[in-house]
Amino acid sequence: MAERNVDELKKIRDVVSQDLLGGRIDLLLGWEKGHYWWQSRPLFAAREEDLEKLTWDSFCAVNLSRYLLEELKDHQKVGVLVKGCDSRAFNRLLQDNMVKREQVILYGLPCPGMLDYKLIVHYAEAEPVGIVEQNGQVVIKTAAGEKTADRQQLLMEKCRGCLYPDPVVYDQLLLEPQGVKEVEERFKSIEELESLSDEERYAYWEKELSRCLRCYACRQACPYCSCRECFVEQENPRWQGRAYQPSENFMFHLIRAYHGVGRCIDCGECQRACPVDIPLQELNRKLIKDINELYGHYEAGLDNETEPPLLTYRPDDPAAFSEK
Ligand code: SF4
Ligand code: SF4
Ligand code: SF4
Repeated sequence: MAERNVDELKKIRDVVSQDLLGGRIDLLLGWEKGHYWWQSRPLFAAREEDLEKLTWDSFCAVNLSRYLLEELKDHQKVGVLVKGCDSRAFNRLLQDNMVKREQVILYGLPCPGMLDYKLIVHYAEAEPVGIVEQNGQVVIKTAAGEKTADRQQLLMEKCRGCLYPDPVVYDQLLLEPQGVKEVEERFKSIEELESLSDEERYAYWEKELSRCLRCYACRQACPYCSCRECFVEQENPRWQGRAYQPSENFMFHLIRAYHGVGRCIDCGECQRACPVDIPLQELNRKLIKDINELYGHYEAGLDNETEPPLLTYRPDDPAAFSEK
């Protein structure tokens, strides 16, 4: 059991149900409970009865905008529930011309942050059987009794570093805004990595990336990875071998990271999807930090108009690379 706010869920269900019944949308992308109480997975609701499964709890981390790429092939008008990160992912897809604005209705859900099951287990020191949330506190239930934790302590890493919990684009805002957040030390771990020698940094990434299975879950979850054919699957030229090789792992991550320069919305979905916990956000944030330092502050996905720095040219752009 992981319900957070039944009133909020009722409000969301009432609005989307009206739109689905009235034909304003022919599919709703939302969340439903997964196999475990601490999992909420995407819900594809085409009929009113599907909406009985709709959920809105502290485990709705999956970014739904990415699913538009497939669903817009079969549906004329799709409704999507968007948290802050889903809405920025939508802007990213819009800017890449991968979706059409008029085919999508965005229902904005200001987001209090999602909880990390591993942190809940760690804090409970036993297997949790459910949680109850009240006034910023989380009561964790285990077979041995209850333990109460501050909600902030149990947030996913991506949510602790989230600057924009409120949707930045929507047609209808369904809940009360949370407000822009101040996140201290967003780049602290990056600065620590930067302070290492080249050899130490190489050893760090060699160790981390040696675990990569090349399952490509990170790519599948990512809103900037929207190419119709990814370089890893191209046969001619073949950029990426199929066999497990540490050098091939490096190749995959370096090319993918460079494809994301100025386009990564820092949503953390790649890292959340990774089955072997590779700290992909450190790669992404290093590039965000570099872009900010070289080209001025830029946050991808905040709007659809501002061009990413590497897609524009200014006479005073740093040109150290070409000058060498
Ligand atoms: S990254 Fe931000 S908007 Fe997305 S789930 Fe976390 S707190 Fe919510
Ligand atoms: S999700 Fe993790 S294991 Fe899979 S390809 Fe990406 S980094 Fe490698
Ligand atoms: S690279 Fe990761 S953090 Fe960046 S947009 Fe893709 S999924 Fe989000």
